[in-house]
Amino acid sequence: MYTAAKIDLEKCIGCRLCIICCPDPNVLMFNEDKELFVNENRCKGCGLCAGVCPKKAITVKEA
Ligand code: SF4
Ligand code: SF4
Repeated sequence: MYTAAKIDLEKCIGCRLCIICCPDPNVLMFNEDKELFVNENRCKGCGLCAGVCPKKAITVKEA
């Protein structure tokens, strides 16, 4: 089991690469303040987003 992705907003530059690579279109989204957030109920913890993030702003850990 893996935990849902966690985003470090201090590192995120909003490039959207993680959103593009996520297998589910409704997991990673920007909120009204243009901050990225994770719908933790839908995230599979696959880690693809963490792998593509150029700023290493996402972590997915083994639970
Ligand atoms: S860990 Fe996988 S399912 Fe979760 S946000 Fe990242 S790419 Fe999407
Ligand atoms: S890939 Fe990284 S820097 Fe780009 S939007 Fe996602 S979390 Fe932010």
